Amino acid sequence: MGKHDKQPNALSEREHVAWIFQGNPDLYKIDEYLASYPEWIYWSANRYISEIKIGDRTFIWRAGKDSGLIASGKIVEEPMEETGVKFPKALGKELWIGQEGESRHDKHVGIIPDSIRLLPEDGMISRSIIKADPVLGKNHIITVPQGRVFSLSYVELNRLEELWRNCQIDAGSPDIDPTDTEGTKRLCAHWRRERSRFLGKLKKEEFRQIHGALHCEVCALSEKTPYPAEFGSRIFEVHHISPLAEAQGPQKTKLSDLALVCANCHRAIHATKEVEQNMLRLKKLLAK
Ligand SMILES: [Zn+2]
Ligand SMILES: [Zn+2]
Repeated sequence: MGKHDKQPNALSEREHVAWIFQGNPDLYKIDEYLASYPEWIYWSANRYISEIKIGDRTFIWRAGKDSGLIASGKIVEEPMEETGVKFPKALGKELWIGQEGESRHDKHVGIIPDSIRLLPEDGMISRSIIKADPVLGKNHIITVPQGRVFSLSYVELNRLEELWRNCQIDAGSPDIDPTDTEGTKRLCAHWRRERSRFLGKLKKEEFRQIHGALHCEVCALSEKTPYPAEFGSRIFEVHHISPLAEAQGPQKTKLSDLALVCANCHRAIHATKEVEQNMLRLKKLLAK
């Protein structure tokens, strides 16, 4: 808290101090992109090219029927040709629906997300809330919503940060500044992968298709017993198994990187930092 209140003077003298990047879910699988690349994302920018600076506060806006703010973060790469970006794989080009369109020729901005909220229950802020706000309701994202980049004034940014903080859902781990250290950054990305309801839902669907029902991959507890059916699926969580320390640059989360575990085993796996060893040890102890 309060981190964003300490704006340097130079920032408050700029006309535009922060950005909203808009994406259209009919053209690009935005939810899947944010869920599977929680460490580092790219957005195309077709205006304000010379004004967008490293360190600028940034929000992601989903257009369409569930429109609103779904992520926040910081600029880490200034607008750049697609061929020049640091992590080309993180462009997520496989997630275009149909033709990639003209955005390929736009500049791309690198962003480290620090909070991803795809659903209202994750703390996303719907368009209706922004529209009703006396300060933010006048922003172009509401009044002239065509385009991919929208600017925020200092006053608008402060108001938006306030709303964003108020809508934060505490899911057991804080929204840490991901630019602090490599370690924290990786830990944040790890949490975000595991807390992504989007990926969790896909993983459970796949698991049911393969195994018929959910069970813990550590202790073998099944959703069918002993819990009543309506509680069954809620006691399972996903655990990200790829070794974080070895990751070279932002990695896409695949369903095969996730293990289905019961809440108890998940706690135990994370009891110490030696997550991988913990999981192996528990599997040996508990497997039936
Ligand atoms: Zn278990
Ligand atoms: Zn885990």
